Amino acid sequence: MNTYGSRSTTLVKGDGAYLWDDCGKRYLDGLSGIAVCGLGHNHPQVTQAIQQQAEILLHTSNLYQIESQIALGEKLAVLANMDKVFFGNSGAEANEAAIKIARKYGCDRGVDKPIVITTNNSFHGRTLATLSATGNPKIKTGFAPLLNDFIHVPYNNMDAIIAAANDQVVAIMVEPIQGEGGIQIPDDDYLGKLRSLCDQHHWLLMLDEIQTGNGRTGKYFCYQHSDILPDVVTTAKGLGNGVPIGACLARRHAAEVFAPGNHGSTFGGNPLACSAALATVNTISAAGFLTRVTKLGHWMLATFKEKLAECPHVHDIRGRGLIIGIELNQPCSSLVESAKQQGLLINVTAGNTLRLLPPLILNDEQAETLVDIVVEIVLNFSGDDKQ
Ligand SMILES: *Cc1c(COP(=O)(O)O)cnc(C)c1O
Repeated sequence: MNTYGSRSTTLVKGDGAYLWDDCGKRYLDGLSGIAVCGLGHNHPQVTQAIQQQAEILLHTSNLYQIESQIALGEKLAVLANMDKVFFGNSGAEANEAAIKIARKYGCDRGVDKPIVITTNNSFHGRTLATLSATGNPKIKTGFAPLLNDFIHVPYNNMDAIIAAANDQVVAIMVEPIQGEGGIQIPDDDYLGKLRSLCDQHHWLLMLDEIQTGNGRTGKYFCYQHSDILPDVVTTAKGLGNGVPIGACLARRHAAEVFAPGNHGSTFGGNPLACSAALATVNTISAAGFLTRVTKLGHWMLATFKEKLAECPHVHDIRGRGLIIGIELNQPCSSLVESAKQQGLLINVTAGNTLRLLPPLILNDEQAETLVDIVVEIVLNFSGDDKQ
């Protein structure tokens, strides 16, 4: 169906940080399939895990124990400091699980119409519940009636949450950095303040780390830049390096909300997806890997700030690890095509923010090339309609 419009490029092959189209042109990947292929394309450990699992067993259903699911669950729980995990097949499904946990948590406490607080300009998915949670009116138009038990408040604003609080609220759901919303990074103490507020009111703190998880920001999960723990954390995109999988992790009472029959999935956590994800998670969490992501992220951010300091149409440059946004003072979606002509794949989000989500395995030379091309196209940018 016509959900993505017409697309002019067909990518047929990948290797590490590179992709090739059907004409043989090579591109440096500055997007990783939207934060999915953190280990780049055809990563040997992930490919081997998929091959080996495919030769043994693809699928059994969740009516039986699954060895790779248990191994992945245990690994993720340790990395995240969480107690339990539910596996689905996508980000939206991981968030659906989180929203259902919030609902049932409320129900168990006698709240008859449980409300979840979310933020403006958030993105939580395209299913009806996650679309309802999303704070972007543009993508909601035409799909009414949506669920009306979400309250949207400005991001990075505690006063707005305190003002919106009522006795039906059961949870707060936020991205620790807003991805689709334009790489919005909140104040350092935002998560800590959310944690205190949630503790005070017995609300669940639910973090959507679908984009920011799996090493993207230089920690395995973005909340690990602060010293708090959420009650629920969801992740997906980078978890399987391209094999669809999502996870909803929970701690303490949030981990005990579901009982048999409350939730499920036919495909979720199947042997193939879990083997691919286990290889991905093991690689990202191996010693030194995230130190490198942090170092590279610092270098790229500093270099952009230096080289674009005098550029009149750059409004702001921000990032953490390898999620980097360059906000222009006007719409700039034509930069995607300019970059493609130079052999670089990027994305523009929130209309005016050039978004970079390169593979975490980028080497120094590739990082320099990426920065050089981005600086050149931004300096030469003269408005979307003049490109
Ligand atoms: C991509 C994304 C989702 C939705 O994930 P899908 O796999 O597309 O369903 C949800 N939340 C955030 C923060 C995302 O970036």
